[in-house]
Amino acid sequence: NVEVHFEQESGFNPFDDPETVRAVDGVDLEIPENDVVAIVGESGSGKTTIGKAAVGLQKPTGGSVKFRGQDIWEAKRRFSNSSIPYDEIRRSLQIIHQDPGSSLNPHRTVEASLAEPLKKHQADLGPEDREARILAMLDRVGMSPPHDYARRYPHQLSGGEKQRVALVRALLMNPDLILADEAVSALDVSLRVEVMDLMLDLQAQFDTSFLFISHDLSNARYLAEHADGRLGVMYLGELVELGKAEEVLRNPQHPYTKVLKWATPSLGLEEGAAEPPVREIDIPDPIDPPSGCRFHTRCPYATEYCRESTPDRRSVGEGTHRASCFRLDVGSDYWRSDPLEGA
Ligand code: SF4
Repeated sequence: NVEVHFEQESGFNPFDDPETVRAVDGVDLEIPENDVVAIVGESGSGKTTIGKAAVGLQKPTGGSVKFRGQDIWEAKRRFSNSSIPYDEIRRSLQIIHQDPGSSLNPHRTVEASLAEPLKKHQADLGPEDREARILAMLDRVGMSPPHDYARRYPHQLSGGEKQRVALVRALLMNPDLILADEAVSALDVSLRVEVMDLMLDLQAQFDTSFLFISHDLSNARYLAEHADGRLGVMYLGELVELGKAEEVLRNPQHPYTKVLKWATPSLGLEEGAAEPPVREIDIPDPIDPPSGCRFHTRCPYATEYCRESTPDRRSVGEGTHRASCFRLDVGSDYWRSDPLEGA
């Protein structure tokens, strides 16, 4: 039940009360060991914020974030009696950013950048063992000859190579979970699949869980489906649908998921299916989200009830597939030809 609300200055008058941005509102998400979850959503949906909350980079303003049952922020408190030391939690939760260059020091070689976190979290490793581990891992991600890459500076690497170094940096920590936030978005299309294939390969080999965040449904789908993982869809701070990726895309239940699917050319609609009659309005503001179901201002199936009441996440079928919509019954026939009178 994680909430992340931010206060921000309102308008131009400094004497006005600050406004509350409800970036994440009541999200429940469990990531088991060796699992892959891809979260997709448009800008302002809260997907990056929930990712940061999951790895302890963003403190929730409500609810809790736990690692192996231990509240992360409780563990961080001074004199905490946490069952898991905070350093151990930090090591176990790693991040790969959209711009891998930003996490590499331009004045340090690849080896020096990779050695730094090892010195901190695996202080018992001597210099030779450290170097051997770094070289082996560079070789493992296809950066051969590793000695050559180890001596390079970030400006001597391509975007794809920098992302591989970021993966190495994360994996050297033997993490339990890696947050990959728009990790392939900045790469050329031809490189995206290559890097995602590498992530899948490493995920299986190292038994690491991945939380993959993307605004692009085709990337999220590629990663989640190939790992037999789950796909989550966020809209205005809420996780509106979650389930096995293959199931969510074959049988999307939330009207917003259907819109996303329709808007992704590589997924498209079934032959003969109608274009979704979603309302073309601006995305509502997370400062003042719509009442009731937050999608009701754009939803072709909205009723008066949707405007007043908030749907819980309900099961679809017998699996783990869940969606937050009062009208899951309209899911199977793609778009009804006679959507209800809108709100
Ligand atoms: Fe549309 Fe109502 Fe379902 Fe919300 S609850 S997605 S408004 S039908």
